[in-house]
Amino acid sequence: MPVPAFRNSRTRVRKRRSHHALKKTDVSVCPNCQAVVLPHITCAKCGQYKGRQVLGGIKEVEKTIEKKVVKKKKETTKE
Ligand SMILES: [Zn+2]
Repeated sequence: MPVPAFRNSRTRVRKRRSHHALKKTDVSVCPNCQAVVLPHITCAKCGQYKGRQVLGGIKEVEKTIEKKVVKKKKETTKE
């Protein structure tokens, strides 16, 4: 197994590690519900992006409700 030829000085180690600090992530506020969101990412709370409903819109909600109702009906008819 190869072994380093020379020991790294304290200065050299510290210079290398000067780049290891984590940077703060930029966050923005959702204009619709004022939740903290990551930039360029759809709001997880209300599902809006740039003023448009992208996730969990009214149609999607209605669809899921319909599906649940159909499932329940099927279950009740089986019994
Ligand atoms: Zn939102």
